[in-house]
Amino acid sequence: MANIPIFIPHAGCKNDCAFCNQKSITGKIEPPTMEETAKIIEENLATLTGSGHTIAFFGGSFTGIGNSLMREYLSVAEKYVDKKNIVGIRLSTRPDYITAEIMDILGKFSVTNIELGAQSLDGEVLKRANRGHSAGDVENAARLINNKGITLGLQMMIGLPGDTYEKSIKTAKRFVELGAKESRIYPTVVLKNTRLEKMLESGEYVPDSFENIIDTAADCYSIFFENSVKVLRIGLQNSQELKENAVGGFYHEALGEKVYSRVVRRNAERAGGGEICYNKRFLSKVTGQKKENMPYLENYTLVEDNSLKGVMVNGKYVLTF
Ligand code: SF4
Repeated sequence: MANIPIFIPHAGCKNDCAFCNQKSITGKIEPPTMEETAKIIEENLATLTGSGHTIAFFGGSFTGIGNSLMREYLSVAEKYVDKKNIVGIRLSTRPDYITAEIMDILGKFSVTNIELGAQSLDGEVLKRANRGHSAGDVENAARLINNKGITLGLQMMIGLPGDTYEKSIKTAKRFVELGAKESRIYPTVVLKNTRLEKMLESGEYVPDSFENIIDTAADCYSIFFENSVKVLRIGLQNSQELKENAVGGFYHEALGEKVYSRVVRRNAERAGGGEICYNKRFLSKVTGQKKENMPYLENYTLVEDNSLKGVMVNGKYVLTF
C-alpha cells in the first residue's frame, strides 16, 4: 500500500501564514501539466507491487487552485482508479477551501481521503499564525467531509506562537471528536524568509523548550493512538532544503524516533512500574536514543516478545507499527 505523491504548489496563494515560506519559493516550483501528472503516476506504478495504492495530491491547498484545474487533475487520476491497483485519491487542503460546492465536485471522483491543515483549534494560535481561518472552519469542513463518507485527516502544528501544552492536548482531543481517522503532528519549524522568523528575531515568538514539545507531541500521539486515529507522520519530511532553511523552532532529523520513545517513557511514568514487553525491532523506542529512557524505567522488567507488533506497558499497547 503506497501513495503516489503529486505535488501541486499553490502559486499565488493569497494567504500569508506566519510559518510558510511560499512567498520566497513561489515561481521556483511549477505545477505539473496533465501529461507530467500522468507520467508521474505511470513511473510510480512501474515500480510498485501489491495492492491498495492511492494517488495523493499534496501541497496544502489542492481545492483552492480553481475548480476547472482541480477537475483536470482529478480526471487524470481517476483514469487509474480500479485498474493497476489504484484504489482511490487522497488530497490535502485548507479547511476554508472545503465547501458544499467543492464537495459535490470531489464526490464525482474517487476521493477517499481528505487531509485538512487545521494546525490548531485555538483561536489565538490561529490568529497569531495568520492562518486566515477559524476553528469553526475546521469544524464545518470536517462535517462536510464526514457526511460524504470520506476519510478525514487533521494535521496539527504544535509550538506555534501562543500555543501551550494544554491547547495542543485540547486540539488533539477535539480532532478525535470531529471524527478524524488520520493525523499528522508537526512541531513548528521556523523557516528562513517567513514572518515567523521575524517574530523570532524580534522576541515576539519565544519557542517553548524542545523537551516540552517532545512531551506534547508524545501525549498528542497517545490520544490519537488510544482513539484509533492513525498518525501518518511526526515532523516534517527530512530534506537538505529543510535543513538549510530551518533557522529555529523544533527541527530534528530523528524527531519521530524521539517522540516514539517519549511515548513509551510517558506511559511508563504514568503507570509507575511493572512490565514492558516489546518486539526487538522496537527496542530503541523503549530505551530511547543513547538509552535516555532507562532512568525512567527502573521500576520495570523489560521482556522481549517478538510476536508483538509494537510495545506494551503492563499488557496494553502504547505503540504499534
Ligand atoms: S501554508 Fe498558508 S501561506 Fe502557505 S501555501 Fe498554505 S495557505 Fe498559503
